[in-house]
Amino acid sequence: MPAPEFQHTVGKTASLSGTALHTGDKVTLRLHAAPVDHGIKFKRKDLQDEPTIDAKIENLKTVERATTIGEGSVRVHTVEHILSALSAMGVDNAIVEMDANEPPIGDGSAQPYVDLIKKAGVTAQDEPRKFFDVREPMHVESKTGAVLVLLPDDKFRISCTQAGPNNRFTQFLSMEVTPAFFEREIAPARTFVYYEDVKPLMDKNLIRGGSLENAIVVRGDAVLSKEPLRFGDEFVRHKILDIIGDLALVGRRIRGHIVAVKPGHASNADLARSIVREQTRRSALAAPRTIPSGDGGLDADQVMQILPHRFPFLMVDRIISFETETKCIGVKTVTINEPFFQGHFPGHPVMPGVMQVEAMAQVASILLFKLSKSTSRIGYFMSADGVKFRKPVLPGDTIFVHAELTKSRGERLAKAKCHCVVNDAIVSEAELMFTFLDK
Ligand SMILES: [Zn+2]
Repeated sequence: MPAPEFQHTVGKTASLSGTALHTGDKVTLRLHAAPVDHGIKFKRKDLQDEPTIDAKIENLKTVERATTIGEGSVRVHTVEHILSALSAMGVDNAIVEMDANEPPIGDGSAQPYVDLIKKAGVTAQDEPRKFFDVREPMHVESKTGAVLVLLPDDKFRISCTQAGPNNRFTQFLSMEVTPAFFEREIAPARTFVYYEDVKPLMDKNLIRGGSLENAIVVRGDAVLSKEPLRFGDEFVRHKILDIIGDLALVGRRIRGHIVAVKPGHASNADLARSIVREQTRRSALAAPRTIPSGDGGLDADQVMQILPHRFPFLMVDRIISFETETKCIGVKTVTINEPFFQGHFPGHPVMPGVMQVEAMAQVASILLFKLSKSTSRIGYFMSADGVKFRKPVLPGDTIFVHAELTKSRGERLAKAKCHCVVNDAIVSEAELMFTFLDK
């Protein structure tokens, strides 16, 4: 069993073939090892350029019946069962390569994936795991009656109540998520569906690979399946399986206790989103009180050696730290002497939001130049997505500009996720895309 404190990946590549649930096509899945801090990524081997999709909540597309993630026009459907197995069996970093848009459905449980992971082996890496520690209760609620509460705990635990139509098949189970318990008690639990929900889909031919071999069908009080129930409370066990899989999209291990009532993919995803939001807020608070200089950062002179910008358009005073090659924090002290305050607005000085976006772009450019080690090219802004201005920035504020490169496509394009923090609160955020041109 993997030691809990280090990240883990798989020991060697292993593969699994079967049928895709929605298309009914044959699919082969290969599980490959990946480096530390890589996370889980899905790779579409069947598409041109073999695009990959990060198993992150930001990439969640739909939650109807199954969890679908995607980037651009590329999709991967029904990711929750393999993610559940990877997460519970202790795999932090892996590439899930497939020649279709969906993993093989197997018997509708996570058993085939547990077998695959065991075939590949789980090996420790030399970086510590990232955790989300629940500090105070969080909760989400949905219109359909789902309630998920997350409580502080030093283990990852789930207590789940499942209830079918008219409260038939009400079941409860409480457990600590460990590889051994998951393998024995959770992984074999199969998907179950209500006849009235799948009948229209079967009629429309939307679940071509669906059969009694990969799902239990509940019709009224009758349970239809190829083999008998594997557990008297198989349904609540599968609900727990899905919770683990959907919350794997957080990208960190959770130390906390989830109390779930009638959960579904939509409410699981809502909780995952809340966790990521809380994590982002905490990371934003990590900016130091005293502003460091010297080692580990860049002073104004070094910043100007990299950036071509000058007064009044240089929006970075100093880089205070590089967390990794792709992540850093810059500082901009805003004074009443900034030229833009003269007109924005007379008697009511507020820093223009676009200047904050410019500051984010400049800090991100520094990362790009450090990475490409070239100052002969200049980075141009292509687009800014998800721009939000949350609070006004006033004279006297010190802005901590956080930038992280999330993607660089070849030599010419790069993406960065940025946010500005003043007095421990996020004041603005944006996702920026750059292209490079020779000077
Ligand atoms: Zn499921």
